[in-house]
Amino acid sequence: MPIYSINLTHYLDDMGLIEPKRGPARKMAEFLTAVVAHASDFDRPEEIPGPVCFRCRKRDQGIVDTGINEDWAIVWQCVACNTQGQISNWEGTFWDLSSGLESN
Ligand SMILES: [Zn+2]
Repeated sequence: MPIYSINLTHYLDDMGLIEPKRGPARKMAEFLTAVVAHASDFDRPEEIPGPVCFRCRKRDQGIVDTGINEDWAIVWQCVACNTQGQISNWEGTFWDLSSGLESN
């Protein structure tokens, strides 16, 4: 299974908004930002599911597990198709819900 290693800023414009307006890149960017919001919300109740996997959403509606690794990169893995990835440079974006916690 492929592992997607992504620098989130590649999908953002100068204002920090999602740059691709349509097509697969837009879908990918929306998925990635949803993963970041899910993984970085440390107050999130356990039962709130992760985003639907961008790869198998049409067929399996797979939900991804999210987390943060020792390098402070966000990691995710689809429970249905096992696609997994890492997201770097997410801190300080609009979808970073952890703001302030790191420096406390
Ligand atoms: Zn999947």
